[in-house]
Amino acid sequence: MTYDQARWTRDGVFEPLTVEKDSTEVEVESALPDDLTRDKLELPELSEPEVAGHYIRLSQMNYGVESGPYPLGSCTMKYNPPFTEDLAGLESAAVHPEREESVQGTLALMHGLQRHLEVIGGVDAVSLQPPAGAAGEYAGLLIARSYHESRGDERGEVVVPDTAHGTNFASAAMAGFSVVKVPSGDDGRVDLDALEAAVGEDTAAFMVTNPNTLGVFEREITEVAEVVHDAGGLMYYDGANLNALLGQARPGDMGFDVMHFNLHKTFATPHGGGGPGAGPVGVVEELAGYLPEPHVREDGDGGFELYRPEDSIGKVHGFHGNWLALVKAYAYIERLGEEGLCSASEMAVLNANYLAERIPFEVPYSPFHHEFVASAERDAAEVAKKMLDHGVHPPTTKWPEIVDEALMTEPTEVEGVDGLEVLAEAFHAAAEADDEDLAESPQRTTSRRIDQVKAAREPVLSWRDLDIEK
Ligand SMILES: *Cc1c(COP(=O)(O)O)cnc(C)c1O
Repeated sequence: MTYDQARWTRDGVFEPLTVEKDSTEVEVESALPDDLTRDKLELPELSEPEVAGHYIRLSQMNYGVESGPYPLGSCTMKYNPPFTEDLAGLESAAVHPEREESVQGTLALMHGLQRHLEVIGGVDAVSLQPPAGAAGEYAGLLIARSYHESRGDERGEVVVPDTAHGTNFASAAMAGFSVVKVPSGDDGRVDLDALEAAVGEDTAAFMVTNPNTLGVFEREITEVAEVVHDAGGLMYYDGANLNALLGQARPGDMGFDVMHFNLHKTFATPHGGGGPGAGPVGVVEELAGYLPEPHVREDGDGGFELYRPEDSIGKVHGFHGNWLALVKAYAYIERLGEEGLCSASEMAVLNANYLAERIPFEVPYSPFHHEFVASAERDAAEVAKKMLDHGVHPPTTKWPEIVDEALMTEPTEVEGVDGLEVLAEAFHAAAEADDEDLAESPQRTTSRRIDQVKAAREPVLSWRDLDIEK
């Protein structure tokens, strides 16, 4: 079998890809309907400086984690150190997915990362396969479903607090469960009485993050676990807030049975535009047999092998997950070590508490840890737009809904005191601005006020339509 690459000739004519297979020649072009093919492609003729200028300009129009403070609460947007990119860029890391299983170094790294996450989460087994936190939730809930089913116990409900992230509702629905929402108590924590009333013989799992989305630690988490376990349900830990706990406390020790890790949050791998990330799922011993396949284990001969856990829920992603994201997270964990990880969460908590002291908005729920939710008492989205003029990324707005006009703020450990002061100034400017000023913000950004509905419904994604002047 020979393979000829398709190519564009100098005068813009398409030379079709031809595949010779057992001497039968297949013209790929002929397999496509005429209205989907074209003979000529108008490619822009540009010099290298023009192309470089175009991309540099685009990058300058954007605001990223490397541009400055990025306190997008719940997302843990931390600086992505380039040394992890260097490792991911090594030739030896460029393994074709079909070959991953035959390369021992690849398996050793995956096994090492599984092990690190097991220790950090206090769980017995971890699968690296899910490509995002939400995908980890979905995998974790499929595990819960299989577990209950294998015991002849059909349970149709997943219980979540009213402060839960939207993906919790969505993952539960996708995994075939109905969602039961429980109201939080006056202190912003899970209300044990409300929880007891909500769980029962139909409860498959209770999903919660800790610290919760208010940044408040669920002090009674072991009691919560007891209530859920007594009802026969499983405890699911949403790992999005793990940055507050690194080296301080472990979900497994709190009574959680299933959890996910957001490597693009806690372990500084890039978020990308919704991916490619990695959301490994961890479980206690009793659930290890349900993990996605393939899973990496020691082969008993000093090496590693892939195998299918006996009651596996199957595959939840192609090949072995987002390999290069795994390399970056592994490098980050190895470089920081135990001491570095502990200090990351300590600094994250310190920074959030420092910043909250420096801003003019009230924070109704405390004590909080790595993030806090302030109340803007005026339109939080407008406050965010004004903050853009002060060279920072604004916090998450209007969620969780139990805080009026929420400004959910998470500076992370990467800010120094100067960065925190820059953030505080931006909050002050927004608090002091009059309504007219707010309504006209932002003034100093590349794009001014946009029509948010139109931007979401009719996104302009191609270079052809990008009108920079507008
Ligand atoms: C980010 C987040 C998720 C979902 O994670 P993704 O990796 O973005 O899919 C779930 N729960 C909470 C609380 C989050 O902040």
